[in-house]
Amino acid sequence: MILIDGKKAAAELRAVLKQEVTELKAKHNKVPGLTVILIGDLTPSQIYVRNKEKSANEVGLKSEVIKYPDSVEEKTVLEKIRELNSDKTVSGILVQLPLPKHIDKQKVIEAIHPSKDVDGFHPMNVGNLSSGYESSIPCTPLGCYLLIKKFEPNLNGKKAVVVGRSNLNGKPMTQLLLKENCTVTITHSKTKDLKAECLEADIIVAAVGIPELVRGDWVKKDAIVIDVGINKTDKGIVGDVHFEEVSKNARALTPVPGGVGPMTIACLLKNTIDCFKRSQI
Ligand code: NAD
Repeated sequence: MILIDGKKAAAELRAVLKQEVTELKAKHNKVPGLTVILIGDLTPSQIYVRNKEKSANEVGLKSEVIKYPDSVEEKTVLEKIRELNSDKTVSGILVQLPLPKHIDKQKVIEAIHPSKDVDGFHPMNVGNLSSGYESSIPCTPLGCYLLIKKFEPNLNGKKAVVVGRSNLNGKPMTQLLLKENCTVTITHSKTKDLKAECLEADIIVAAVGIPELVRGDWVKKDAIVIDVGINKTDKGIVGDVHFEEVSKNARALTPVPGGVGPMTIACLLKNTIDCFKRSQI
């Protein structure tokens, strides 16, 4: 079994992006800028944002974090987003989720101009992705896609099973695999026989949030298995795939941690640079 090393792949991607930023700076005399809005004091969100800022600085992006307390009014956040939409030094805007209950997530997502939507959540980007047009692509599925393509460049006709249908992961993942001419099955909590579906797959992407859901005898020999899950358990952080069992069958598997996670942040930097490049045309 081959371990798909997301940490290494992310470091390689960051090195390419750093070079790209240097070239963009030489050409345009400015660098792409990422602004993150962080609301409240949830510890995981603070850690994610800190990591995003650190990685952005590492590749030479201009990065800024705007912090608001939990009690901030929705209209204050929407006004700030409008201001950032027209700020030429800002290439990408990200509002860290989850949001406090009194703030409407969809309103916030739709307030970000699609050309600065580095998360790829704006309906315009969702529509463009599903129509096969250029768009920002949500960072985690983009990271999974790059890992799969690095391992298996030609996905023509492969059978792929995506477990989970969230807007964040499962649905955009399905679109990316379709674009690569896979035959894709998207499964979810109401799927009748998940094991039987998975046993058909050359590629499995698990994005569910249930520790070790995908078992060894669910996986065909030679399958590529991508584990998106990050689940806190008594034995530490585990994925949605039973690593020990599945590693005995699969051809390739991503570990948790050190698989998809590091690629997610690297893809956020890639999306910021891509937004900048599109804005210079
Ligand atoms: P979500 O809760 O929004 O969606 C989960 C999906 O799983 C739903 O579509 C649901 O129908 C499906 N599901 C639930 N029970 C199921 C079952 N028994 N069988 C089949 N499908 C079932 O979750 P999400 O936001 O997509 O996140 C999924 C996991 O990915 C979580 O563990 C999350 O922490 C992790 N995650 C990781 C990264 C990363 O960078 N690695 C990024 C985002 C999310």
